[in-house]
Amino acid sequence: MNLYIYNTLTREKEKFIPFFDEGKKDFVGIYTCGPTVYSDPHFGNLRAFVFAGLLGDIIRNILNYPLKHVVNITDVGHLTDDADSGQDKMEKGAIREGLTAWDIAKKYEKNFINYINKLELNFDFFPKATDYIQEQIDLIKSLEEKGFVYKINNDGMYMDTSKIDDYGKLMGENYEKHILGIESGARISNDNKKNITDFALWKFSKRGEKRHMERNSPWGLGFPGWHIECSAMSKAILGKNFDIHTGGIDHITTHHTNEIAQSECSFVSDKPWVKYWMHSQFLNFDGKKLSKSSGDTLSIPDLEKKGYTVYDLRYFYFTAQYRNSLKFNWDAIHKAYITKRNLVNKLWANPRSTSVQMSTGDIKEIEKNLQTKEAKIFLKNILNCLLDDLNTPRLLSILNKDVDKLNVESLNLFAWFDLNIFKFGLFKDLINKKENLDKMPIPYFITQIAQERRKAKLERDYKKADEFRNKLSEQGYFVKDYKDTYIVYHKLDY
Ligand code: AMP
Ligand code: ZN
Repeated sequence: MNLYIYNTLTREKEKFIPFFDEGKKDFVGIYTCGPTVYSDPHFGNLRAFVFAGLLGDIIRNILNYPLKHVVNITDVGHLTDDADSGQDKMEKGAIREGLTAWDIAKKYEKNFINYINKLELNFDFFPKATDYIQEQIDLIKSLEEKGFVYKINNDGMYMDTSKIDDYGKLMGENYEKHILGIESGARISNDNKKNITDFALWKFSKRGEKRHMERNSPWGLGFPGWHIECSAMSKAILGKNFDIHTGGIDHITTHHTNEIAQSECSFVSDKPWVKYWMHSQFLNFDGKKLSKSSGDTLSIPDLEKKGYTVYDLRYFYFTAQYRNSLKFNWDAIHKAYITKRNLVNKLWANPRSTSVQMSTGDIKEIEKNLQTKEAKIFLKNILNCLLDDLNTPRLLSILNKDVDKLNVESLNLFAWFDLNIFKFGLFKDLINKKENLDKMPIPYFITQIAQERRKAKLERDYKKADEFRNKLSEQGYFVKDYKDTYIVYHKLDY
């Protein structure tokens, strides 16, 4: 079984050969750039984490490598733009909510972990930037000793990127375009920098301004630049080199490029610092990317308020491969919900589904013991999609085919993947069957249709009422009228 992944660094789809296979490590290391905890992660951020979680699950549960998956918690001031200027995001959050930056960090870290658990993402380490300040200072010191650092008065300590031969290599041929973009003022630049690509390693606290988060350093009171935490924390937990670094595509030009620059100049002797760089595309809303700093907040509580579950969200994410952008709107979530629901219906319609066994065993062992050709082909088809750069849309089309006819071995495989990889909760529904039906939430839009129907009925517009009843039926629901009220049921209840 081989995994093929697209590597941003080489701009090629490559066979995944971890340091483990070369006898250089006893684990596979993944580092995923985590949230800045000044507000809730929105659906776009969560897409990046679900992608990283899926990748980790494939490596741990299908390829069977011991895995260390790190997701950092940025709880120290990032500035609101890439050019090391603008407002500090943590302090901005603190002002917004009348709390200290520390309380803001605590609150949103807790929410983040809660969402991660709900989405069944198995990350192993959540290091906080504020717990690794000394490591960040040490890293900057080593860069200073090597002559890469200069000071801008009343501003901070900066990395001199003109001293790095291969600066910007992660961008490949887009590097020139990126430079033109900065030059044409697409991003706010800092006139005091020696080169437009130079970036802050340490920012000074402004004179006369009391910050919630600041630390002493050899260069004065202040706080670390944005990129340094990821270099310092990945080194502390995964070692000097590691296998995979992930993040959203917006990180390629600045954050990841600068992480590479400072790591490779400071402590890396074997370049590249990280073997594989994987970047997920945006989730768009209303024609542009969902963005926290623009105030987009759509997140798990909105989903649940409308009666959808994290499983519907996961299914929705799987409809596009991580390297393609995906459009968010509630209709799309609803479509995912209906498709997933039809899948459950088809599973229930399969008479063999009552014999399904949830197996937690090793997939290679399960594969060895398969008896039927059908199950062997089913497994091969699933693996072909997952191991081909996480081709989730192709996977969904396979899962939706002939489900009602699958034999028990294939159903057992399906259950194994649902539990360990897809995490759509399909088999949870199936196993719990009847006892859970009345607990399945009725989505908000369904209750609205039911209300319209009730209204039409009270107004004696029976034709309209019937139209609403048909609409409900198409979506898998029906209504029963009682003396003074009505109740909406899932069709499956009967
Ligand atoms: P942040 O909390 O802003 O640092 O972002 C956390 C992760 O979400 C990063 O990997 C970003 O690249 C990613 N991200 C931000 N906005 C979006 C979006 N609209 N769609 C997909 N990923 C995003
Ligand atoms: Zn990072």
